[in-house]
Formats: sequence, structure tokens, C-alpha cells
Amino acid sequence: MQLSGVGVSPGRVAGPRVVVAADLPKPASEPVPSDLAAEAGKIGQAAAAVATALSDRARSVSGDARSVLETTAAMASDPALTASAEKLVLGRSLPAPRAVWEAAGEFMTALQAAGGYLAERARDVADVRDRIVAALLGVAPPGVPELTSPSVLVARDLAPADTAGLDPDLVLALVTEEGGPTSHTAILARALGIPAVVACAGVLGLDSPGLAVDGSAGTVAPADGTVRAPARTARPEWDGVGRLADGHRVKLLANVGSAADASAAAAAGAEGIGLFRTEFCYLSAASEPTEAEQRAAYAAVLSPFAGKPVVVRTLDAGSDKPLAFLPMGEEPNPALGVRGLRVAFDRPELLDRQLSAIAAAAAETGVELSVMAPMVATAAEAAWFADRARAAGIARVGVMIEIPAAALCAASIFEVVDFVSLGTNDLAQYVFAADRQLGAVAALNDPHQPALLRLVGMVAEAAAGKPVGVCGEAAADPSLAPVLVGLGVTSLSTNAVALAGVGAVLREVDLETCRVRSRRDLRGRARAAGLAG
Ligand code: PEP
Ligand code: MG
Repeated sequence: MQLSGVGVSPGRVAGPRVVVAADLPKPASEPVPSDLAAEAGKIGQAAAAVATALSDRARSVSGDARSVLETTAAMASDPALTASAEKLVLGRSLPAPRAVWEAAGEFMTALQAAGGYLAERARDVADVRDRIVAALLGVAPPGVPELTSPSVLVARDLAPADTAGLDPDLVLALVTEEGGPTSHTAILARALGIPAVVACAGVLGLDSPGLAVDGSAGTVAPADGTVRAPARTARPEWDGVGRLADGHRVKLLANVGSAADASAAAAAGAEGIGLFRTEFCYLSAASEPTEAEQRAAYAAVLSPFAGKPVVVRTLDAGSDKPLAFLPMGEEPNPALGVRGLRVAFDRPELLDRQLSAIAAAAAETGVELSVMAPMVATAAEAAWFADRARAAGIARVGVMIEIPAAALCAASIFEVVDFVSLGTNDLAQYVFAADRQLGAVAALNDPHQPALLRLVGMVAEAAAGKPVGVCGEAAADPSLAPVLVGLGVTSLSTNAVALAGVGAVLREVDLETCRVRSRRDLRGRARAAGLAG
């Protein structure tokens, strides 16, 4: 039996299936245990087993991973948590799992009330709670399990923070029941070079020992668990200069979110950075990094690009990239809520601190800095951001065009900024009213659609000579790159893996061919897999 989903990162592999366990629900308070003393006794045993397993794992790793595991093991053996959970069993007749849940909840509330460093520990208590409760219930603890050998990971969905931490040497492929093609989980899988299929309905129901995954075709089939991971295909030849056959220059830049991404991009020949997603540095941060910490983090990413152009994007928190230190509260439609630049309107000091950290990191590393804001809707918002960035001493200031309103009013936006970069992932989501994280509407989130291309063309026409980049996933599609250039786009920014393919394709076409292709696609080229445009 073969299942179909949406292939979001190419590659054909097979290997043992490892399921990412879902979050634990709050355990039931019934039935009342018949032997309260025996029930209470289970808690210490479970906590000790968790602590031993964590200490064993800590011994097998080194560095940060080791100290995190050792700290978690110490928390699991903390007698205070066990004692208060035992009291709840004996005093309120709660089953052991529920007692641990409640006791940990009290600790977490106290830590959160204390604020600062202690508040950050609340998350660790939740981790320990989940492990002890899972041990008591005899189920796997939630989250990505520690892999010891190459495996195919299967999950309902994965948070960007979980995906960013995956080790491409151990994760052969990633398959999710949910998720869309331009979700950040898909983007991260592509950047890590991990074959991935999203929106694969029914995959959690497969109980074969292994899975065979085709990340290009978007198919998943049961397998026997033997590892089959053919050597990655050689990258196309490309000399690191973005140029058409007639010599027309189109800068080929990289999308990065970490120092590792930046090194990979430099090694792949990127001419610079076209999108530094700064929020990716803080997906697991519990509190706002200080200006000095931000400067160090940004400098680590920028340093391979000394003397080269880099575009740093200010925090794009919110929606599917929540940052713990910027809680948005409950929002009915987070993609339409307070995200991107909107977060800064109420907290301009947060933006100012980031801008000065970025400027300092750029000066330290000697890059040619440009800064841009995400999720800008109007020219007034663009002007507000540009004023603050210039006040921080940043000379080249731009905005992302990823909201249809901004594309429609691009001419007024160009009056207040030096460049724009088209975020086709969000632009598609908002143009087609199709959630980029939802597999069910994945066909609409297709950047080949003429409605999206028309907006790209309008923005390029309004530019009056100013640079117009594309940094959404559309830029990484070799069949679309010439079309974007034909529409007037001046630079393309992709993950390191896609760069050479795009660079090689551009070498085969001249500007006139690009224009012919863009005129054809603007009229609407009904695509076999998509909906008619
Ligand atoms: C985009 O929306 O196309 C983009 C590049 O930004 P992100 O994917 O980070 O939302
Ligand atoms: Mg975006």
C-alpha cells in the first residue's frame, strides 16, 4: 500500500520507522487507586528510572547536549517533586500520573511567578513531568526521540524548533500527516537536505517496521526497516556567479538561519545572504537575548560573508514561529494576527535593540549590510521601519513584500525604502487564502499560479531601478527562476542545496527567453498538478 502526500524535499530513501510521540494529555483523576501507598510508591520508581535513562544518555554524548541531559536527570531525581506528588496521591487519592502532573504544575507556576532565569526553568520542569508521566503510563514521552541509528521520522506535525534540531546524518527522511509545502518545517527540511513528505494522510496508521520515502514524488510505502540511502546526486556545475547566457547579472544569494546554514551557503558559492531569518536563532529561547548576545549570534552567521552583501531580516515571530519571549496570547487566526513587524509596533525598543545588535555585528564582520522588515502591509509601516533602521545607522533599508496590499502599493513603498524582497511563501498564502501549513490546500500554494506571478511583475515594474529580490521558496525552483527574472526580479535567494541548480539553469537562458517565459506564464499555464490558473 502506497500513501501520497506532498513531496517538499527531494530524495529517495528507506529505513526503520520512528514515530514522534504526540503531546501527552492531562492524565485522568480517576479511577481512585485502591492501594494509595503502593500507588505513591510508583512515583519514586518512575522518577528514578527516568533519571537513570537520562544519565546513561548523557554519558554517551558531549558538549551542550551532555549538560542538558545531566540537568534534566538531576531534576528528575529531585526529591521535592516526588514528595509533593506522593502527598497528592495519599492526601487527595489521585492516580500517580495525575499527581505528578499537578505537583509539577505547582512548581511551574511558582517558577513563572519568580520571573527571569527561574521562569525559564518552567519548561524544563514540564519536560521532566512528561517523562515521568510517560514512564508511569508505559508510553513514549512526547517529542523527537533520541536517535541512535539512521531512521525515518514520522510525526503528526513538527514545530520549526524540533525540525531545526534534526541531525541529517540520523534522520533519513521526515514524513508528517499534516503541514504544507511552504511551512517552516518543510523549509528547514529542505535546507538540511532531508527528504521530506508532508500532508501524508494515514502515515501514522502504518505499523510496518520501516518506510520507503520518495521526497520528490511525495510517496510513502511500508518497508522492512533496512536502510537504503543512495548517495546524494552530484550538484549541477555552477561557478558561483549568477548570470544568464547573455551575461545579464542576477545575484544568487542564500537563505540562512544559523551559522551552520551560513557556512553551507558559503561553501555552495552563494554571492551573499538574501535572507537571514533572525528568529531561527531564538526558536528555543525562553527570554529575549541581550543586545550583546544578539550581536554575537548574528556575527557568527555573517562572518563567512565578509565583504559581501547580506540582507538581515528583523524578527518574524508569531504564527508558526512562536518565540517564547514574545507571547501573542490566543489568536483565532495567527497567520492574520500579530506577527512580523506588527510585533514591534507595541514594543519599538525590542526592534531598536535588534537593529543596533545587527549594525554592530555587521561592523564587526565587515559585511555589506542591508536590513529588511517582515510582514509589512502599507507604505506608512515601511516608512516607520525605515526611519528606525536609519536612526540605528543602517544605510540600506528594505521591506519584504509578502502581503498582497504591499504588492499593490509597491510604488509608494519604493518611495521610502532602498529595495524590496518578495516573500512568495506568505504572498501565496495570502493571495490564495490558503494556509501555507495545511496540506489540504497545498495545490493552491503554488508559485507558478498566474495570480502570484502578476503581483511579482507589478512589484518589479514599480521598482524604478531599485533592487527587487525573491527570497521565498519560489526562488529555489529551477523551472520558475527564469520566469521571475523575466518579470524583472534582480536577485534570487535560496537554501544552499538549491543554489547550484538555479545557477546552472540561468546560464542556459538569455533575458529575452526569460521574458517570453514570463509572458507565457502570466497568461496562465494550467499545471497538471495544480488548479487551473
Ligand atoms: C516568505 O514568506 O516567502 C519568506 C521568505 O518568509 P518566511 O518563509 O520566513 O515567512
Ligand atoms: Mg514570510
